[in-house]
Amino acid sequence: MWIPLLRLGGVRVYLDPLIAVVLVYLVFFTAPGRTLFAPAGILLGSVLLHELAHAWMARRRGLVVGGIFLHLVPFAYVERGKPEDELRVALAGPAVNLLLAAGFFAVPAVRETFPWTAPGLWFDDPLWTAFGINLVMGTLNLIPALPADGGRALRAGLMTRLAPGTAYARTARVGTFVGVGCFVLVAWTWPSDDAILAAILGVFFIMTAWREARAGIAERQRERQRARERKEAKEGP
Ligand SMILES: [Zn+2]
Repeated sequence: MWIPLLRLGGVRVYLDPLIAVVLVYLVFFTAPGRTLFAPAGILLGSVLLHELAHAWMARRRGLVVGGIFLHLVPFAYVERGKPEDELRVALAGPAVNLLLAAGFFAVPAVRETFPWTAPGLWFDDPLWTAFGINLVMGTLNLIPALPADGGRALRAGLMTRLAPGTAYARTARVGTFVGVGCFVLVAWTWPSDDAILAAILGVFFIMTAWREARAGIAERQRERQRARERKEAKEGP
């Protein structure tokens, strides 16, 4: 079940009931001030702009946009297009976050006071929050592993030059490397909250890479089958 939230530039935005409950709680039951009120609003706004960028780029490329769905993992439901279109749609989201981050970085008051090494303090100032969230959101989403936007961009980029099955397989390989890299980070940062986060990301990336690898094997079989059929058709009975 999805709750229709608003319409932005012709794109419908839907809200997951669980997220809605959290938002209602934050808006009505926590006082604005030193609470999660402002950070939650800034996070929601940044996520919305990220997803809107995917949706707007998709529409520019003539693709159908089903809407934006604000779930635990938010996503824009967009028709799959040609690899060139997918590449641009995937990169549009993180690009907007990085542009926003660059805008905040250009403000000397933000740049000179931002507590780079103490993320716990980022929420003490709305400008720090906006800069930090957009910087992290833009950078993390560019990791070249599915389901991150960077993984989608990598796959689409490979598909402009290679058969889909081969592109899937290579994307899966890069995703597995990234997942293994996360576990190197776990060993490095153990024991800390960062280690737990890295472990979750590692499992997530490796599981998605394996699914992609299976899709690649299936696609390659179809490609071989089609090639055989073409050859037989050419040779005749
Ligand atoms: Zn995205």
